[in-house]
Amino acid sequence: MFNKVLIANRGEIALRVIRTCREMGIKTVAVFSTADADSLHVRFADEAVCIGPPASKDSYLNIPRIMAAAEITNADAIHPGYGFLAENADFAEICGEYGIKFIGPTPSQIKSMGDKITAKTTMIKAGVPVVPGSDGLVTDLKHALGLAKEIGYPVILKATAGGGGKGMRIVHDPSNFEEQWSRARQEAKASFGNDGIYIEKYIEEPRHIEFQIAGDQFGTVCHLSERECSIQRRHQKLIEESPSPFMTDELREKMGKAAILAGECIHYEGVGTVEFLVDKYRNFYFMEMNTRIQVEHPVTEEVVDHDLIKEQLKIAMGEKISGKNYYPQMHAIECRINAEDPFKDFRPSPGKILSLHTSKGHGVRVDTHVYAGYVIPPFYDSMIAKLICRARTREECITKMERALEEFIVEGVKTTIPFHKKLMKDEKFRSGDFHTGFLNTFEMGNPDE
Ligand code: ADP
Repeated sequence: MFNKVLIANRGEIALRVIRTCREMGIKTVAVFSTADADSLHVRFADEAVCIGPPASKDSYLNIPRIMAAAEITNADAIHPGYGFLAENADFAEICGEYGIKFIGPTPSQIKSMGDKITAKTTMIKAGVPVVPGSDGLVTDLKHALGLAKEIGYPVILKATAGGGGKGMRIVHDPSNFEEQWSRARQEAKASFGNDGIYIEKYIEEPRHIEFQIAGDQFGTVCHLSERECSIQRRHQKLIEESPSPFMTDELREKMGKAAILAGECIHYEGVGTVEFLVDKYRNFYFMEMNTRIQVEHPVTEEVVDHDLIKEQLKIAMGEKISGKNYYPQMHAIECRINAEDPFKDFRPSPGKILSLHTSKGHGVRVDTHVYAGYVIPPFYDSMIAKLICRARTREECITKMERALEEFIVEGVKTTIPFHKKLMKDEKFRSGDFHTGFLNTFEMGNPDE
């Protein structure tokens, strides 16, 4: 049993981890930058250590400072949350060298999924379906053109080191291949210092459906069903739900098996997410695996009634899991509430929250680190709260979400609440018939409508 866990993160996820630790009788250490001195995660932890100035590289990404904080507080484990160092194999390794348990997979498991080509090759070997494409990196334009013809247009050029939707280019026919090819390489070089490119078939109007998995230290892996994440803006998720309105029992069995296989073939230990693209014929293809807890984990918690942070802690302490899979008993939807102006192209809107009323009542959950008087710093991501609703059916869940969004009042900064209200009324969203391109044609209108 851990005695004390340091949380190498900030905001709502740090608070989320503190809550479970408290329920399990584990002490907590918060770390914070000078910009976060007033954040709730700092107040709710048993101890808090300032690790530097606002810039992430000087605080939440600064490994020596975090390790020093762990040493002086005598923490025996570190929870990395999501983002920052959560998928940094070197950090996991350094924790091991200090004799501090990294709550997550081993450094080699992180590495095997960190690079997209390596991950894809591993999946092909394990028999998990992947998007058809080149065998690894393509360096020569002529070779690339030949491959694209073989794969069949449209194709997508992707950076092996890619992330956040950068370094991706869709090519519809050979006439502009060369131009897109050099653009993709330049963008990849500039963003990741690595211009390695590979080619994939572009799946048209796909859904992004991901599976939550968990694996213990003894090789047992199970799944906790899927999350539908097709409502994205520039490849960033805004709404997630479970179960997916597109799912059938048969497809869930097939995808669940593939997700477990993905975990088993790297002896995955911890909770993780296997992301798939699903086409309209319900063919599914492995896209990538996230070796950490995800922002959208609460929708799974709500439908399978399981605390995923507790699972992470138990697995890290060496407990066995049963190996049985978990299926949705309810429907849950999460709306990400960001301090952004949806009427002005989602421009960030940091600043002071003058007044705040969060939604309450049956089936409503709000995960947030903010309060009235809190100043949202401009240095980090703009998510200030997650609003999660749970009900017996999708229809009831949408109705509940509409009610909960009406109640959620934030004054002082702009938020994405008007976007979510509008989306909940959208016929296409309500029908469940949408794909990853849905928001490309979604009109916000103007604020006074
Ligand atoms: P990143 O790591 O940059 O987020 P991903 O590989 O996870 O990139 O892809 C992000 C999104 O890009 C997916 O959710 C999907 O919307 C789109 N995408 C990626 N690959 C393909 C593909 N082969 N066909 C169609 N869309 C794709």
